[in-house]
Amino acid sequence: MAATVIPIDTLPSINPATGEVLAYFEKTPPGRMPEIVSHGRAAQSVWAKLPLGDRCGKLRDLRNCILASRNELADAVVRESGKPRVEALFADIFVGLDSAEYWSRNAAGVLRTRPVPHHSTAAKAKRGYLTYDPVGLIAIISSWNYPLAIPLSQIIPAVTAGNAVVCKTSEFTPQCGALIEKLFIEAGFPKDLVKIVQGGGEVGQALIDASPDKVMFTGSVATGRRVAEACAKKLIPSVLELGGKDAMIVLADADLEVASSAAVWGSYTNCGQVCLSVERLFVEQAAAEKFMELCVTKTKKLRIGPGSDPAADVGPLILPQHVQRMNDLVHDAVSRGARVLCGGKPRADLGPNFFEPTIIAGVDSSMKLFQEETFGPILAIQVVRDAREAMTRANDSPFALAASIWTKNRNRGMALAAEMRAGAVMVNDAVSYFGIAEAPHGGCGASGWGRTHGEAGLLEMVQMKYIDVDLLPRREKPWWYRYGSDLEHAADAFLQFEFSGGIGAKLRHARAALKTFFRNHGL
Ligand code: NDP
Repeated sequence: MAATVIPIDTLPSINPATGEVLAYFEKTPPGRMPEIVSHGRAAQSVWAKLPLGDRCGKLRDLRNCILASRNELADAVVRESGKPRVEALFADIFVGLDSAEYWSRNAAGVLRTRPVPHHSTAAKAKRGYLTYDPVGLIAIISSWNYPLAIPLSQIIPAVTAGNAVVCKTSEFTPQCGALIEKLFIEAGFPKDLVKIVQGGGEVGQALIDASPDKVMFTGSVATGRRVAEACAKKLIPSVLELGGKDAMIVLADADLEVASSAAVWGSYTNCGQVCLSVERLFVEQAAAEKFMELCVTKTKKLRIGPGSDPAADVGPLILPQHVQRMNDLVHDAVSRGARVLCGGKPRADLGPNFFEPTIIAGVDSSMKLFQEETFGPILAIQVVRDAREAMTRANDSPFALAASIWTKNRNRGMALAAEMRAGAVMVNDAVSYFGIAEAPHGGCGASGWGRTHGEAGLLEMVQMKYIDVDLLPRREKPWWYRYGSDLEHAADAFLQFEFSGGIGAKLRHARAALKTFFRNHGL
C-alpha cells in the first residue's frame, strides 16, 4: 500500500466523521509572526483613523459576504467539525451574521464619547468625558468547536473598535480559518487588517511572543493557564474563555416535556462539544422518575451520523482519543455506582469518532463526570431532594461559565439565578444565549476571565480614556502650593462643608471653605 506523504509545512483538514484528509493548508511559520504583527500594526494605524461610521459600513459589506457564502461556509464547518449542517447554520453562520449586523448598528452607541458628571464640589468646575481608543493589535486564539462563530464574534467587534487582528484558528479547522480571511478580503477590509495564522500550539505561542496588545483566548483550562502565564510575562492583558461544567436544575414544577427536550439537546448538540453544554443535571426528586424516562425516550430516537447527512442529529467527536475519553468517564462513573440508562458505547461501525448519546443517572461529585469537563455526548444526572440541595451542588465546582434553571415560576427562577455562581444563567432555556449579540459571555474561576459579546465584549477591545476639561483655565487650583496653617484650616473647612450631614453644618463651613478657592498662592 502506498504511503500518503504529508508535506511538513502543511496542516491536513480532516473530516472527523470518516478520518478522511480533505485538503492541506499552509502552516504559518512561527518565525514569521513578528513580521505579520508589524504589518497588522501598519494597517491598524490607518484603519483606526477612519470614522466609526465608515468602519460600521464595512461590517454591512461583511454581513453581505457571509450571507452570500453561507453554503460554502456551512459545508466547511460540517466537513471539519463534524456537526450537522443545521447546527452549522443556526450556530456558526447565524452568530457570524448577527455579530456583523448588530455591531454595524450598535457600536456607535457604545463607543460614543460620554460625559462624566462630577458629584464633588471640588470637581464642579471641570467637564469630564470618556472616550474609547482602540487597543491596537489584538491576538485571537480560537478553539475548533465553533470554528466560525467564535472567531467571527471576536474579530468583528475588534475591527469595529479600530483594531487589527491576528487570529490563530484551530489546527483542526484550517479551511474555516482560510475562509474567514477570505471573507474580510472580499468585504473590502484593508490588506493585513485581519490575518489568519494557521498551525498548532507553537503558532499560538509565537503569536503571544510577538507582543500583541491584547490576547483573546478561547480553549481549554490547561492551555488557558499556559496562555495566561505567557501573557503575564509580557504584561499583555488577556481575556480567557475556558471550559465549562454547566449545571441544569430541573425543579418539580417545570414543564418536563420541554425541560427533557432541552436536556437532551443541551447535552448532545455539537456532540456535547460545547463550552456551554449541560454537563451536570440536577432534578428534584418529585419529578425525577418521569423526567429521566422522557430523556431516555428522546435520546433513543436520536439519529447518529455524519453532519453531511441531513437526517443526522448527533455527529462525531473531533478525535478518536475523545471516544476513548468518553469510555473512561462512563467506566469511572459506573465503577462508583452510577447507572447507564441508555447509550454508553462507541459506534465504530459508523466511523472512528462516534459515541452514542448517553444518559447516566446516579452521578455524584466523587465521579470524573461531575469533576472534569466532559465535552462529549453524555447527560449526567443527579437526583436531589429540593432546589436548595440542587443550588449547593451546582455551585460546588471550580467552573463557573453558565447554568440553567427550569421552573414554571419565573420569579423563583430569577431568585435562584441570582444565587448561581456563573457568568450567565438561563431560566427555561439552555446554551442559546451565546447567539444573543447583547448578552455578555464569559465566566469566572476555572472558566476564565473577561467577556466576549455584548457591550462588555466590545469594551474589552478598547482602551478607556478619561478626558478632563477645566472650565476655569485662568485660575490656579486651591491645593497647589504654598502650604501653611491658613490653607490647612480652609482644607478642614472644605471637608466639613462637603461631608457634614446637615445643611446647617454645611452652611457654617461654606465661607471658610470658599476661601480655599479665592486664596492667594503667593508663589
Ligand atoms: P485547546 O486549549 O486545545 O486549544 C485552543 C487554542 O489554543 C487552539 O487554537 C490551540 O491550537 C491553541 N494553543 C494550544 N497550545 C497553545 C499555546 N501554548 N499557546 C497558545 N495557543 C495554544 O482547546 P480546544 O481547541 O480543544 O477547545 C476545546 C476547549 O475550549 C474546551 O475546554 C471548551 O470548553 C473550550 N471552549 C470555551 C469556550 C468559551 O467561550 N468559554 C467556547 C468554546 C470552547 P491547536 O489546537 O490548533 O493546536
